[in-house]
Formats: sequence, C-alpha cells, structure tokens
Amino acid sequence: MAYVVVMWCIACGRPSGPLCASCVDSLRPGHTSVVGNSLAVAPFAHLGAAARLVRLMKYRRLMAAASYLVDAMADLVPPDASCLVPVPRAVVRRARYGIDPAGVLAAGLAARTGIPMVEGLKGPVWWPQRAGRGRSRRSPVRFRNSRPVPVRAVLVDDVLTTGATVLGALVAVDPTRDRGVRVLTATSVGTMRHGANTAPNLGGDVASKSPRNGLRPAAGSATAPHPLAHSRKESE
Ligand SMILES: [Zn+2]
Repeated sequence: MAYVVVMWCIACGRPSGPLCASCVDSLRPGHTSVVGNSLAVAPFAHLGAAARLVRLMKYRRLMAAASYLVDAMADLVPPDASCLVPVPRAVVRRARYGIDPAGVLAAGLAARTGIPMVEGLKGPVWWPQRAGRGRSRRSPVRFRNSRPVPVRAVLVDDVLTTGATVLGALVAVDPTRDRGVRVLTATSVGTMRHGANTAPNLGGDVASKSPRNGLRPAAGSATAPHPLAHSRKESE
C-alpha cells in the first residue's frame, strides 16, 4: 500500500505545509528595536501567519507553531550569546493556558543552538495583559532575578509589543545596563525606543476573540478549530 504524506499548513490548516503559500506571503521581517540599552530583534513582524503562529502556540499549545518560530529565531541568536533566558509568562496565564511560550521557545533554541537555557527570572503572579499602556505605563513589569545570569545573555520572549514586559526583565537581569544583554522575540510590533509606548498592542498576551490588525479569521486562528496533527497519511 502506498502512502501520500499530506502536510497541513500550521497557521491556517490548508493542505500544503509547513506553511501554505498564502501564509508565507503574509510574513514580514520583524523590526529591530532598542529596549533599555538593549537591541531587540525578531524574525517576523506581528502580522499575518506569524501572529497566528504565536497565538496557536500560546493559547492552543500547538508545538508545530513553536517549532516553526524557533527555526526562524535560531538564525538571529547572536554567535557570542552565553545563554538564553526566557521571560516567564504571568503565573495565572501559564496556569490557564498550560504553557509558558518563552520557555518553550528558549528550550527549542537551546536544543537547536547548543546554547544553554538559564531560567533566571521569576515574574509576578499577574500583570496587565497590555503592560506599558494606560495605568501601567510608568511601571515595567517587576521581574526578580532568581539565578545568576552571565554577561551576554539573550532574553527570549514570544512577542515584543510595548516593550514594558521585556524592559522589566532587562532591569532584573542587568540593572546596570552594561552586561551586554540582548533580546530575541518571535515577532515584534512596530519600532520602539527605551521601552516607549509608541507601538499598538496587537495581542502580545491577549487571547483576542476577534482578529486584530486587519486579519481575516483563518481556519487555524484562535476562533476556529485547528487540525492539531499537521501531517496526515492518506492511502492511495
Ligand atoms: Zn496557511
């Protein structure tokens, strides 16, 4: 019996993968930003299929989405990075969704690059989903440095939105801003400097029920069921 392996697009569920042509078309390069004194890079802008992949990872625990993002992020890990430090998700949201996206990405990157992951940050139980906007504008998220983090560490997170979350993490691991810490996220929104609040929040840690940023809901978005197994066999 012969088998044909049909790959399903991780982001939208259409046949042909790992991403279909239409989803690949929607990918845009991420922005390079400065948060604190640290350079922040991301392989993708938080749009189209890239934003869907992030949501599928963080709200549906779709590991194929995480794996696709890790592959793209791996190329941007600085060659002199000493370690990868995930920016932990709020305890409440981690319990609710059953995944810590930055931890998954950092572990994947560690496996890909051989650079160790150091879980050196502890976060608050909860902070506003849109940290850095409105009332939380003046207060970066208060992380605690729980383990020694060597110089030239790379902070890993899923999305860079207002920069407030990452800025809080930077303050915790590098209070003197001279330890050469850099930031790598899967996607980024707009351009920001020094954790400024100039960028719109497009769902960094928000499980949006309606599509933002002008996207139509796709078969694989948070509003529709997604084929969790993106690779299937069909008999011929
Ligand atoms: Zn697709």
